[in-house]
Amino acid sequence: MTAQDVERPAVAKWLVETGALLHGHFHLTSGRHSDTFIQCSQLLQYPPYAASVGEALAERFAGFGITAVVGPAMGGIILAHETARALGVRALYAEKENGEMVFRRGFVLNPGEMCLVVEDAVTTGGSVKKVMAAIERAGGRVAGVGAMVDRSEGQADFGVAFRALVTVKASAWEPAECPLCQAGVPVTYPKAAVS
Ligand SMILES: [Zn+2]
Repeated sequence: MTAQDVERPAVAKWLVETGALLHGHFHLTSGRHSDTFIQCSQLLQYPPYAASVGEALAERFAGFGITAVVGPAMGGIILAHETARALGVRALYAEKENGEMVFRRGFVLNPGEMCLVVEDAVTTGGSVKKVMAAIERAGGRVAGVGAMVDRSEGQADFGVAFRALVTVKASAWEPAECPLCQAGVPVTYPKAAVS
């Protein structure tokens, strides 16, 4: 499998094949109901898929002069590693601390170092923005943001190039307003549902 094989429909297919993307009627941890359930780790648990997704993201940022890929812990760590491997650069991650994302474990950036931020799924983009802030505090520059899945419905705006491999539209409602409940569709409680 090479990067050339990794087109958007292939990534979308893998998300379904690995159970990372489910369609149905779900009760999310937020209490809302949705017709879509995404858990990117289900795909990333398979190294060949993770490697190919990293290659696809790397391809979209070729020529950006990136020398470090940074992901938010936990969701972005594997993706940062695989994207960095494909680019032949370092992989770092930032961790939550007091509501911010910070570099720990002795990670440092060179002054002005060009970084790519990667995230498994972007919804509000909150984690990505905190990683961008961490990079800037560390003296680096953010060249772009890459995501395996964009579920922001076009709302994500980071002020830099943003490229996602798959766009997923996920409707969500309060249970009282859920059309799937009203249609009598049985609801599923997925483990570790996101948002
Ligand atoms: Zn419902």
